[in-house]
Amino acid sequence: MRPLDLTEKDPSKKITIYFEGRPYEAYEGEKLPVAMLASGVYWLTTSTEGRHRGAFTFGPVPVTVNGVKNVDGRKLKLKNGLRIERQRYDEFQEQVEIDEGKPVIRYVVDVAVIGAGPAGLGVVEEIGGKLTVALIEEKGWLGGDMWLKGVDQEGFGNPRRAIERLSSFPDGVRVFLGTTALGVFDKGEYFLVPAVKEDQLIEFMAKRVVLATGAVDSIMLFENNDYPGVFRRSDALEVINVWGVAPGRKVAVVGAFPEEITQELDRWGIEYVVVPNPKRVEGNDRVERLIDGNGNVYEVDAVIVADGRIPDINPVTQVGGRLHFRHGYYIPILDAEHRIRKGIYVAGSAVSIKPHYANFLEGKLVGAYILREFGLEAEPCLYEEKLKEYEPVARPIPKLPLDGFNGEDVQICGCGVTLGKVDEVVKSGITDLQIIKRLTHLAMGFCQGRFCLFNGALLVSQRSGTPMGELDIPVARPPLKNVKMKVVAGRE
Ligand code: ATP
Repeated sequence: MRPLDLTEKDPSKKITIYFEGRPYEAYEGEKLPVAMLASGVYWLTTSTEGRHRGAFTFGPVPVTVNGVKNVDGRKLKLKNGLRIERQRYDEFQEQVEIDEGKPVIRYVVDVAVIGAGPAGLGVVEEIGGKLTVALIEEKGWLGGDMWLKGVDQEGFGNPRRAIERLSSFPDGVRVFLGTTALGVFDKGEYFLVPAVKEDQLIEFMAKRVVLATGAVDSIMLFENNDYPGVFRRSDALEVINVWGVAPGRKVAVVGAFPEEITQELDRWGIEYVVVPNPKRVEGNDRVERLIDGNGNVYEVDAVIVADGRIPDINPVTQVGGRLHFRHGYYIPILDAEHRIRKGIYVAGSAVSIKPHYANFLEGKLVGAYILREFGLEAEPCLYEEKLKEYEPVARPIPKLPLDGFNGEDVQICGCGVTLGKVDEVVKSGITDLQIIKRLTHLAMGFCQGRFCLFNGALLVSQRSGTPMGELDIPVARPPLKNVKMKVVAGRE
């Protein structure tokens, strides 16, 4: 086994790849960052500013493969003999490529459900067999965030088995895995949902749309928070539970929700320490130590940020939904039937952060509202009642030790935007996030603000004294994910 393997891998899949000229053991179909992690190599790419980066924090992972530059290393599935080199970000553009030579595939359905986590699966369980459904999921698996979990989940028990139970669909339900919805547009009686699977453009025409698009990991601000060996919670969960590889030998868990990660580490017997107030990560090409706000030094080889999740607001604002600030994060303003506006529903952790089972129930609730709209029998009040048992998770609003940080070492955004750069603009008196975006490029890059806009708002709120709820949050523009604009432009 490789140094950080937690499980035996299939020996018939064993291959050799070359990274920076050195041979490494890997397994066919494994992702590059996972194979390198298993062998203890964290540094995979270099930002335009020259910062060494791994694949599990944020920002893209461009690498050169067999001499071809600008391959997205995060998604690279390995084959025997591949020769991979580190590369700088430089001209790399992470974007969905669409082959315009291919004819567009079109589907007409009653309901398009975007996102196949517990909420999307709840919607489909409720309406499947009664209405025609397209279930659109950008990942290669069903179950969303719950698929990454190894420990039993309230209401569901074993997460994998629960998802498998929910994955047998009746006729009339079509599932599109590996398919990214790019937005939702009005088209008379219908909504148009353009989506892309590999390089194929697919257009869904749907009478109703459900945004079951979930939440994103919160990015925590501390010095060198982009170092190789710093993990976002979902990446840590994925390497452990999907790929059977440990994030490190001794791990520091930071953030407001450590137990979500520590129970998984306990399960595998991975040594860890919980550090509530990280200040700085140090090391040579990878995490070697973490220093907290009190000056304590922890010798660790990985840091997992377990700071919970916040709803992904981009799909909501792209279709004209408005937001308010509740429970410590921005959430969509919904009518009594969970709609942003007529025909567009939201369910799950896109609405608020709560247990997986509550998100599933909320999917069922939305499904029941939709059935009623189509004149079919449904009892939404059943689910409304059950949902009352679940309070949304309140996130404490972090208090950033702004003047205690070296702002140039804190990455607020994976595209090389530092906290220091944004703070300088805010301190000069500019507190309009739209203008801050233009001046600093915050929320203008790969993640389109999904990860970094919240921290930008937090910074403005803290410096200006304006409550988070009173800030004007910029709306997301289509397409939801980077794609060649000319493809989508003609369709609005
Ligand atoms: P929970 O948060 O409890 O797991 P949930 O179903 O509300 O429940 P997720 O599990 O995060 O939330 O599932 C949301 C799913 O939506 C994810 O699997 C994500 O890949 C998918 N998704 C998000 N945006 C898009 C998009 N634009 N196109 C296709 N799928 C998307």
